[in-house]
Amino acid sequence: MSSPLGTLAELRSALDAGTTSSQDLVAQALGRAEAHQGVLNCFVGLRADSAREEALAADARRKRGEVRSLVDGVPVAIKDNMVQAGEPTTCASRILTGFVSPYTSTAVQRLVDAGAVVIGRTNMDEFAMGSSTEHSAIGPCHNPWDPTRTTGGSSGGSAAAVAAGIVPVALGSDTGGSIRQPSSLCGVTGIKPTYGRVSRWGLVAFASSLDQIGVLARTARDCASVLEIISGHDLRDSTSIPEPAPVFGDALSHSIDDIVIGLPRECFVENGADAAVLATVRAAVEELERAGAKTREVSLPHTPYGIATYYLIADAEASSNLARYDGVRYGHRARGTVGLTEMYERTRSEGFGDEVKRRIVLGTYVLSAGYYDAYYRKAQQVRTLLRSDFEQAFDGCDVIATPTAPEVAFRLGEKTADPLSMYLSDVYTVSANLVGIPGLSVPCGFQDGMPVGLQLLGPAMGEAAPLRVAAAYQRLTAHHEKRPPEIA
Ligand code: GLN
Repeated sequence: MSSPLGTLAELRSALDAGTTSSQDLVAQALGRAEAHQGVLNCFVGLRADSAREEALAADARRKRGEVRSLVDGVPVAIKDNMVQAGEPTTCASRILTGFVSPYTSTAVQRLVDAGAVVIGRTNMDEFAMGSSTEHSAIGPCHNPWDPTRTTGGSSGGSAAAVAAGIVPVALGSDTGGSIRQPSSLCGVTGIKPTYGRVSRWGLVAFASSLDQIGVLARTARDCASVLEIISGHDLRDSTSIPEPAPVFGDALSHSIDDIVIGLPRECFVENGADAAVLATVRAAVEELERAGAKTREVSLPHTPYGIATYYLIADAEASSNLARYDGVRYGHRARGTVGLTEMYERTRSEGFGDEVKRRIVLGTYVLSAGYYDAYYRKAQQVRTLLRSDFEQAFDGCDVIATPTAPEVAFRLGEKTADPLSMYLSDVYTVSANLVGIPGLSVPCGFQDGMPVGLQLLGPAMGEAAPLRVAAAYQRLTAHHEKRPPEIA
């Protein structure tokens, strides 16, 4: 079995030094992906032949002295909800069986243009709805630290692929926590940028006002490098911010003694969160204080309404976005039906899984004439209140620290029968999506052998501050360097 791949920075140096080649790295990544698929199930599909050819081309470029970027020739993985021309995209749903995309999403295109080699599409909760990667048409993804536990979700396949050393970097999407929560549960670093930072063109829509593409990697520095590549204005996404991509440069090496970390009173109470997880996160904050950061208490008073608000808005948008899967244009179509209505009904009944159906029913309900004011409008009003909570909090601090998830990875099957308990996995993450601000999760310790994540949030367009704090933390600690012992 091939050994785990290093960080992006390490692979880069090895490529530059000529001690490895893109062909070697891609062969190693594909070998590991195949070897672990039986236990982890983190890929929906691999593109082995194309990846090998692209690696060959990357090595040829290197020989000619035409290296395109930091990721040139490096194997990466993408979540199965970002399209790539000529490749299937299923969103881990039966309804997209057989769909092959005619075009490439902007984020993936930018990676490909930079020379990265996409080795495959990662497992996820169907249409990114879930917190455990168990709602997948190909079956659950398993956590590399303990395969009887979940990876979190919905970008569980991306998190597991990075944690298992299959790829140094993977793209994920985050609508309510889907990059940060699996990063936390799998012991990797993951960033959800500011809403509009990365184009959503070619990201299959779940909840359009919340969805954002981001990066999972082993270090904050690698996340920053890849974020620079995939960010920036895109005419094809009207919500993409008309600003150039950020350049973090050596900002990530700066000391953090000018940083004030806000600790929201509402997020450090033991209702719902595991006491040991809170203690681990508090210890991480103390470590940052020793590195020179100041801390102060802040308040985000509407936090207790975050989950309800998120699930009203996300489901409302999902019910509308998923109306396009009607059996006419994409993927699966039920056979032997009579008339259009029966065809729609049977196609959607057969094609969608239970969680997606639940969201469509709930979302349609909250948008219906009699209930719109009571639910959807109210949720939008609370969203505005949450935004002003954060504006006020950021008046007095540079980053906000919280746990990423209330507990370490739970056991497979533990929450599938109780959707509400599954939804509560996102208590700390949904606010950033509702407000549109950036957030990342950084490994900060272990409980019962399972990784714990520290969440760092920044103001809109302010990815640099949480990345800088995370990078400083990773210079001081080695949690992000630990590898799952079972996954050799
Ligand atoms: N777990 C949340 C949900 O189920 C968030 C998912 C996501 O961020 N895509 O909606």
